[in-house]
Amino acid sequence: MGRKFIVAECPSCGQYFAAALSKEPSCPRCGEKLNSNGLPKNIVGSWKTAAKIVQRKQAEKTGENYNPMGMYTKTEKFESVIQSFRESKGVSVSDILKKAEKVGLGQDWVLKRLDYMEREGMLVRRRGGVEFTYL
Ligand SMILES: [Zn+2]
Repeated sequence: MGRKFIVAECPSCGQYFAAALSKEPSCPRCGEKLNSNGLPKNIVGSWKTAAKIVQRKQAEKTGENYNPMGMYTKTEKFESVIQSFRESKGVSVSDILKKAEKVGLGQDWVLKRLDYMEREGMLVRRRGGVEFTYL
C-alpha cells in the first residue's frame, strides 16, 4: 500500500494542514507536535487529495461559516459556478460575475474570492480572464 496522509485542523494555530500519517504529526504552520489519536482528521490516500481538502476547508473558513440548515454556503455555490466552466479553457471575469449573480453571490465577494484563489494558486490570470488550475 502507498503512504497515507491526514488532513486535520491544528488545535494550536487553528489552520488546516496536510501531513503524512504518523503517530505524532507536527503542524507545518506553527510546528506544534500533535497526537494523531486524539485529533479529528480525514485520512486519504494521496497528497493531492489531502491538499485539495485543505484548500476547501480553509476556503470555507475564510469564506462563510457553514450553514447548519443544509443551505449551500457561498463557497459551495461559487464552486458550482466554477465547475460549470470546467470545459472552457479561459473564463472571462464578467462571465463568472454574471453566473455568480444568478446564484446570489455579490460582485465584491466574488472578486475578493478570485484574489484569494489566485494567492492560493487555484487560478491564474490570463489576458481578459482567468483559468482555474485545479479543474
Ligand atoms: Zn499549528
